[in-house]
Amino acid sequence: MTDFQYALDSDGVATITWDVAGRSMNVLSLAGIEALDALIDRALGDGAVRGVIITSAKKDFAGGMDLQVIAQMQSGGAAAIFAGVMRLHALLRKIERGGMDAKALTGGKPIVAALTGTGLGIGYELPLACHRIFAADNPKAKIGLPEILVGLFPGAGGTTRLVRKLGLQGAAPYLLEGKLLGPHQAAEAGLVDEVVAPEALLARAKAWVLAAKDADLVKPWDQKGYQMPGGAPYDPAGYMTFLAASAMTSAKTQGVYPAAQAVLQAAYEGALVGFDTALKVEARAFTSVLLDTTAGAMIRSLFLNKEALDKGARRPVLPDESVQKLGVVGAGMMGAGIAHVAAVAGIAVVLVDSSVEAAERGKAHSAGVLDKAIQRGSATEESKTAVLARMTATADYAALAGCDLVIEAVFEDPKVKAEVIARIEAVVAQSCILATNTSTLPITGLAAASRRAEQVIGVHFFSPVDKMALVEVIRGAKTNDRAVAKALDFVRALRKTPIVVNDARFFYANRCIIPYINEGIRMVAEGVDPALIENAARLVGMPLGPLQLVDETSIDLAVRIAAATKAAMGATYPDAAVDGVIFTLAEQGRLGRKAGAGFYTYDAAGKRIGLWEGLANAWPVAVVQPDLAQVQHRLLMIQALEAVRALEQGVLTDIREGDVGAILGWGFAPWSGGPFSWLDRIGASAALAMCEGLSGLGPRFAPPALLADLAAKGDGFYTRFAAA
Ligand code: NAD
Repeated sequence: MTDFQYALDSDGVATITWDVAGRSMNVLSLAGIEALDALIDRALGDGAVRGVIITSAKKDFAGGMDLQVIAQMQSGGAAAIFAGVMRLHALLRKIERGGMDAKALTGGKPIVAALTGTGLGIGYELPLACHRIFAADNPKAKIGLPEILVGLFPGAGGTTRLVRKLGLQGAAPYLLEGKLLGPHQAAEAGLVDEVVAPEALLARAKAWVLAAKDADLVKPWDQKGYQMPGGAPYDPAGYMTFLAASAMTSAKTQGVYPAAQAVLQAAYEGALVGFDTALKVEARAFTSVLLDTTAGAMIRSLFLNKEALDKGARRPVLPDESVQKLGVVGAGMMGAGIAHVAAVAGIAVVLVDSSVEAAERGKAHSAGVLDKAIQRGSATEESKTAVLARMTATADYAALAGCDLVIEAVFEDPKVKAEVIARIEAVVAQSCILATNTSTLPITGLAAASRRAEQVIGVHFFSPVDKMALVEVIRGAKTNDRAVAKALDFVRALRKTPIVVNDARFFYANRCIIPYINEGIRMVAEGVDPALIENAARLVGMPLGPLQLVDETSIDLAVRIAAATKAAMGATYPDAAVDGVIFTLAEQGRLGRKAGAGFYTYDAAGKRIGLWEGLANAWPVAVVQPDLAQVQHRLLMIQALEAVRALEQGVLTDIREGDVGAILGWGFAPWSGGPFSWLDRIGASAALAMCEGLSGLGPRFAPPALLADLAAKGDGFYTRFAAA
């Protein structure tokens, strides 16, 4: 059984059908490369064959490279990686040549790609090497090159071909941002040649193959006098494009993503040389990226471990708990967002608020999000009508009857939540699972308001719900496995990534984000230049500096959280220095972005202008400033130590969740692979030394016993806590 089947019809058209056994999505393995190569040789060598269609027996074309192949290549070192990549180049170039005479450019056989659905990574690079790309009109299909999102870049000719096909400016969104398109958008953008009704796909491809002429088979870059769209780097227009792309990439990635620099290098240097040399340049750049630990850490967290969690690695082994009818109580910002994503996922939703008007406002939020999606071309009027039809907005709790999961997202007040839980329980069946979206209140405490504490669970969404990929599922002291299964089946239906943590103050994500924000604010109080704090954070790969982050989430929220934490901790409360800053800002009405004033200043339209100069009056900038690295170490270490403590205390039970949750939940420097990957990267001993260097700042930098133990034994998180 090979991954590709071969059939020749009576008109001389060979069809190579990709169908990897036992997988819902094709991926290219080493054996697959050899099998495809042999079939291409067979077709090119058979006089009865006039042309070839490469397609898939599955609803999608291919999801990409088998990442095991990449792992294998990595373990072989530079020479093995380079040889492996060049092997693939040779096959794709053979397809592109179609057996034609290299000088006369005649006598080739057309080889086309017919995409049944999604084609990602190599699943688009292989079509790019073909003479024409047909895509079935499949609304679910996504086409593009997402490699950059896991720390790689298209290294099977995708970079070289797309830049030559579209020019650097045209190719940049796909190469540098991993932008994916549906078939029609892909055709408009020039990524595919034709969109065809699914049932006509193969017939249309065959008709083209039979009619193709020599000239149709020669790629522009193999023709004499080829000019790169938008200009190569040595002509004035092209020079500006390459310069701008380089500057923009540096601004976006702050230089911490080797793949972004490497893809630009491959594009730039490749544009200066002939096509086959450009492939070698690309292979060399790809090799250097694979040898950097960044790619390995990003693939592990953002691909392998994320996928394992998505597929239910932490789900108790229980029968299916797919949600049939969802109730959401509280149609504010979060409740409306949750109702929206559930309805989009095809789930019937009852959205309850204190008044019909408030509930309807929540439903209108969904309509607004869908209108924007329609403008972008990612939704249609019909899909909007269908989504809204699944959503019932009401003030009547009785409408919750028949729900198998109800999530409350009312005000963050234990008394209000307890009342709401009792009202829900009065109408739902005994089997219904009750979830709370609280971000600060312990689940065990809320469960005490319920008559069935074992069916109460935390399902913590992040804002904005439709954009954020993480959902934190929190087990209370009594929560049973069925409630966990129900929550995970719900998250899976939404195509979001779950982590399952135990109940403790602020659970996992907020527990780590709050110290990050506080460390930034503390530095302001110490006289560290606010611009240094913010830039240090951005330069180390945090999406937002701590001061910008607290402006976004609001300073009054920070004040409320500080007050509640102080009340809970009493004399041991460590953050008085932070309070000095945020209470002062709050008193002045500087509540953050929503107030048009916070650590930053904003213009009338709400656009952030710059750091507020008045900060220096209250907290003068010290003459002697710490160096950049020290500020960065403080900002990363304060988060990483909190993650380690969460693991030590059993809040986290799986480091994979700690890393994936940190990147998806609050953007912990994605290049690092997450806090545990970051600590492993610097090594436990060096991390320990870093903590000791920072310990003068306060006990918050005291190394947890677990870190000291790893250092003493020469161990790391991923070696000690290999996936359970
Ligand atoms: P919100 O103020 O926007 O919405 C709360 C809604 O609950 C309002 O529409 C209100 O009318 C409704 N409500 C209040 N009492 C009710 C009752 N008895 N019956 C029915 N409806 C009632 O608040 P939000 O920001 O959406 O937060 C809701 C919950 O989500 C809170 O527990 C909060 O901690 C949590 N949360 C918020 C965020 C965030 O970023 N805002 C993130 C994660 C979790």
